[in-house]
Amino acid sequence: MARFAMVIDTKKCVGCMDCVVACKTENNVPEGYNRDWINYESIGKFPELNMEIRSERCNHCENPPCVSCCPTGASHVSELGGIVLVHHDLCTGCKACLASCPYDARFINPEGYADKCTFCSHRVEKGLKPACVSVCPTYCMYFGDLDDPQSEVSKLLAKRQYKTLIPEAGTKPHVYYLI
Ligand code: SF4
Ligand code: SF4
Repeated sequence: MARFAMVIDTKKCVGCMDCVVACKTENNVPEGYNRDWINYESIGKFPELNMEIRSERCNHCENPPCVSCCPTGASHVSELGGIVLVHHDLCTGCKACLASCPYDARFINPEGYADKCTFCSHRVEKGLKPACVSVCPTYCMYFGDLDDPQSEVSKLLAKRQYKTLIPEAGTKPHVYYLI
């Protein structure tokens, strides 16, 4: 099985929000909700201050608390490269997963189920990239298999410095930020 991951180059992101718009359109995300978003963080101390711009979403964690806490088995790690998904028909909307996610990546869809980024699994299973990756005008987002040493994501992680978000939570995120 592949282990899919996203690598995002914070040095190239300009915060244009094309990824956010592409996701909303591709996935029919309801009005007032988002599956991905842009975060701005000041890094360093004056006068050596930098603004880091990050496109954020579900991290498709290797150790996902949203899956272990789900009482119905709706939240699961899929066979499609470990992408974390929700079976809508099994979800009761209890919100346990929303409370367990350190990244605030989930919301309850107005139709009553837990919703979040799927890494565009419907596209990935056809060999396409997630919508956000495919529209980024600065080419700062990459998607691929961590277990393939020849994949773009593996090569980037081998040669660049990177970080994951809230590593102390122990979730082992599969979204990596090049810094
Ligand atoms: Fe679950 Fe949150 Fe990790 Fe996504 S980011 S897999 S919702 S814990
Ligand atoms: Fe599971 Fe749905 Fe409850 Fe989340 S809201 S823990 S997916 S039953």
